[in-house]
Amino acid sequence: MAYVIAEPCIGTKDTACVDACPVDCIHPRKDEEKYATTEMLYIDPQECIDCGACVPVCPVSAIFALDDLPEKWASYAEKNAAYYGR
Ligand code: SF4
Repeated sequence: MAYVIAEPCIGTKDTACVDACPVDCIHPRKDEEKYATTEMLYIDPQECIDCGACVPVCPVSAIFALDDLPEKWASYAEKNAAYYGR
């Protein structure tokens, strides 16, 4: 299982989650070139350790454990993985 970033992140890209993540598995970071052209942030499902630290810091409640991902945003599990070529 991994955590997933869903639709509310689009256009928000707050990055508080990036700072909270202990394993640096949320990208793009603000200091990465792709940040400017990517519509939202994504969690690497292979690197995420399921700690949940990113969830409470998100100002738009965009992050969910895979099991809690609302059905309407189910496609975001694949979207997060796809960003990393998973
Ligand atoms: Fe990073 Fe933990 Fe969030 Fe996974 S659950 S993305 S490891 S902060």
